[in-house]
Amino acid sequence: MTDATLIDGKAFAANIHASIKLKVSELKDAHGLTPKLAVILVGEDPASCVYVRNKDKALVNAGMASQQYNLPEDTAEYELLTLIEHLNSDSDTHGILVQLPLPKHISVDTMINAINPEKDVDGFSVTNIGRRVAGIDPAVTPCTPLGCMLLLKDIVGDLSGMRALIVGRSSIVGEPMLSLLIKANCTVTVAHSKTENLPEECQQADILIAAIGRPEFIKGSWIKSGAVVIDVGINRVPLANGKSRLVGDVEFDEAKKKAKTITPVPGGVGPMTIACLLHNTLDAACRQNGLEVPLRN
Ligand code: NAP
Repeated sequence: MTDATLIDGKAFAANIHASIKLKVSELKDAHGLTPKLAVILVGEDPASCVYVRNKDKALVNAGMASQQYNLPEDTAEYELLTLIEHLNSDSDTHGILVQLPLPKHISVDTMINAINPEKDVDGFSVTNIGRRVAGIDPAVTPCTPLGCMLLLKDIVGDLSGMRALIVGRSSIVGEPMLSLLIKANCTVTVAHSKTENLPEECQQADILIAAIGRPEFIKGSWIKSGAVVIDVGINRVPLANGKSRLVGDVEFDEAKKKAKTITPVPGGVGPMTIACLLHNTLDAACRQNGLEVPLRN
């Protein structure tokens, strides 16, 4: 069998960025509207600082407005709530994103659910979860699962009847993938740390979504021949020379001998997440202004 083709998430995401940039410019010309995202960062977690910087850069490149709020680590819950309430009532702000993780003294659930669901561009609030699961429009789809679905639909087309396995059941990846894949008419299994005989589950899967957070945990020999593999994992592993490299949750070099197509890490799902954040922000701005949503999922 020949090696799997690689799914170029970077190129796919670049196309989304370009089409969003065009739509944003049309919105400005036709309606004087600039989609705006407020990003709130509490504390100075180094990885979060990098993510927030990358989001800001992508928004500005697409012609959107980006407002960053950098709050100190010891910010009180009520202070963060006050800021969220202010942004909820600001009609120029269309999306609000609270960068996770938050310091331990702040309740993530309270903050996420304080965001107006129409402005919850991460789609993490109970309102958006409920709408998504119940199939009620509009539901904001979390960015990483949305990115995975866009890649899958592009590669496979109609997913009807395919057996999908999601490894990982987190609220930001695994759980939303479940409802999205069911909606796409897949037969879906969700595996997690208590699942028995994971290799056997993997061998049944036409589509395998790995979202575990353990470097190369899913072995190439577990992959069904001809499967589509979407590796969400991002793990930094040390090298003998003191440097490090990023790897996914799937043993890439072996898996590509079995799969039909596979996302590399980096350059697969990762770039799709920010592209989908821009998508959700544009979508929110259009909805809040009674305009047609330009890009449907
Ligand atoms: P998480 O919240 O830590 O969830 C991990 C999931 O994996 C849990 O459901 C856990 O099961 C399951 N798991 C752990 N060990 C397992 C095992 N031995 N066998 C089967 N399942 C196991 O992680 P996450 O936030 O979903 O992130 C997962 C990975 O995706 C991480 O590498 C993260 O960096 C990456 N990620 C990437 C992007 C992107 O933009 N590409 C976005 C988000 C996350 P239990 O529920 O039983 O504990």
